[in-house]
Amino acid sequence: MPFHERFGRAAIVAALAAMLAWPGASAAEGGERETANGASAGKRAAIVIDDLGNDMAGTAEVMSAPVRLTVAVMPFLPTTKRDAQWAHRVGHDVIVHMPMEPLRGKRKGLGPGAITVDLPEDEIRRRVEAAIDEVPYAVGMNNHMGSKATADERVMRIVLDVCKKRGLFFLDSKTNYRSIVAKVGAELGVPVVQNHIFLDDVSSTSHISRQLQLVQKHLADHDMCVAIGHVGIPGKKTAAVLHQATPAMAGEIRFVGVSELAGLIKLP
Ligand SMILES: [Zn+2]
Repeated sequence: MPFHERFGRAAIVAALAAMLAWPGASAAEGGERETANGASAGKRAAIVIDDLGNDMAGTAEVMSAPVRLTVAVMPFLPTTKRDAQWAHRVGHDVIVHMPMEPLRGKRKGLGPGAITVDLPEDEIRRRVEAAIDEVPYAVGMNNHMGSKATADERVMRIVLDVCKKRGLFFLDSKTNYRSIVAKVGAELGVPVVQNHIFLDDVSSTSHISRQLQLVQKHLADHDMCVAIGHVGIPGKKTAAVLHQATPAMAGEIRFVGVSELAGLIKLP
């Protein structure tokens, strides 16, 4: 089915609603409210793990998590293909973790194929296309860093246009509250899902556990919650908390891929 038939006017309405109501309102959430009178789909949590593709600490533990995750894989790195195939094989969602320019920090740390705001349109288009081609099974995209690029309307219009043509949704990590991703996504008809909680911005087990409890808290008032963690420095700790805590949570909460939240957006 062509992308625009799946994600039409409802996506635009839902994404606009998401812009107006933080915290908690993702595009998908707005979509669900429209069908909330039917059988309850229950509470959904989408846990996303960023920064795969470079054989980072915690990779194997993330793959073997007891619940469904979404694995964000960086393109053009030594284990890009291996990690995407691995995640797909064990039933996690795979998305492209697109390196994008931050407001602060070195461009060098961005990784190969990064989107910087000084690039011309054809080069941005080429880089986004190439990144999607690099990550097998990708059904969506999110930003690695990107506090500068996600606030740049020209850049995001090009990135989201490629996503639309390739049938990918976009998960806005919200590294900048001035992000215009939801606005541009609504205009173009691309489903944009928003991150609510960073799990491991502080790399301690107690902090990560508390952040995971915030997911439960968020779900007391909302139908869905998106949370982002990382492999790398916090990787083993984040994975350990997920292994330890999610089986008990899974009684009340359904752990889903982000694609399920993006896919809730239906035509009226
Ligand atoms: Zn990242």
